[in-house]
Amino acid sequence: MATATDHDVLIVGGGPSGLSAGIFTARADLNTLIVNDGDPILRRNAHLENYPGFPAGVNNRLLLDMMADQAERAGCERREARIVDLEPVDGRFVAETEAGGTLTATYVIAATKNTVDFVEGIDGVEIIDRGNTFVETDNRGRTGVPGLYAAGRLTLQPYQTIIVAGHGASVGVAVIEDSDVEFYHDWVAPDQYFTGRGRDLPPGCEEIDKEERERRERESLEVMREYFADPHPDEPNQHPSVREE
Ligand SMILES: Cc1cc2nc3c(=O)[nH]c(=O)nc-3n(C[C@H](O)[C@H](O)[C@H](O)COP(=O)(O)OP(=O)(O)OC[C@H]3O[C@@H](n4cnc5c(N)ncnc54)[C@H](O)[C@@H]3O)c2cc1C
Repeated sequence: MATATDHDVLIVGGGPSGLSAGIFTARADLNTLIVNDGDPILRRNAHLENYPGFPAGVNNRLLLDMMADQAERAGCERREARIVDLEPVDGRFVAETEAGGTLTATYVIAATKNTVDFVEGIDGVEIIDRGNTFVETDNRGRTGVPGLYAAGRLTLQPYQTIIVAGHGASVGVAVIEDSDVEFYHDWVAPDQYFTGRGRDLPPGCEEIDKEERERRERESLEVMREYFADPHPDEPNQHPSVREE
């Protein structure tokens, strides 16, 4: 059982890729901590118009807030901290924060866009330098070090939010598949969808009846109305090179 600083999964970076990865690992009951320092770069966007599901676009900062809330609701713990060092020790990982704290985890997902300083000394991690730095992985985010993954733009994924979010999800599921969690899909299906056809409920799946489906839909509508009731209070972040008046 994990202690306060010991987790099954440590995700470094709380942008769309890290948050998406956490939604999946936490839903599979892997004790997940997302550590982020600074603003995800999506906060600089002015209006997000290519993220599927929002025909007229969506406020980018609202979407990030909603992703962070969903990660917490799925069971992730989130902390503001900068990871400055990571070491594999006896099949686990020990991470040091800038403030001098220590975190340990069985699996680590780096989702830090172009920041590689905390992984570049590790034997088995290949850094790609193209002016910006990236981490080489297989197509599910696995690095050359068992238990260490990278997700999102850090792995040279195309630079679109939906792509890095989807990649984070794929890496999160790779962690689940590589762990000893029994997993098939994390689907919510109508009552009897599997069991009514004589099949066992696959691990990770849930069947819900009409009453429960309607309750969840009511809750979802209420929650979404709140998010979309008013314009987001924050302005987009300017590029640091643009001087504030
Ligand atoms: C001006 C602008 C407009 C954009 N507009 C669009 C658009 O319209 N549509 C679109 O699809 N995409 C757009 N993008 C691209 C989109 O923002 C990125 O594809 C996406 O945010 C990348 O996500 P990520 O999770 O890989 O990285 P990030 O979102 O950058 O997340 C990485 C996080 O890790 C944190 N971090 C880094 N190092 C550490 C460390 N050592 N310890 C802890 N935390 C750390 C960072 O502070 C950051 O919060 C835009 C980008 C910019 C700059």
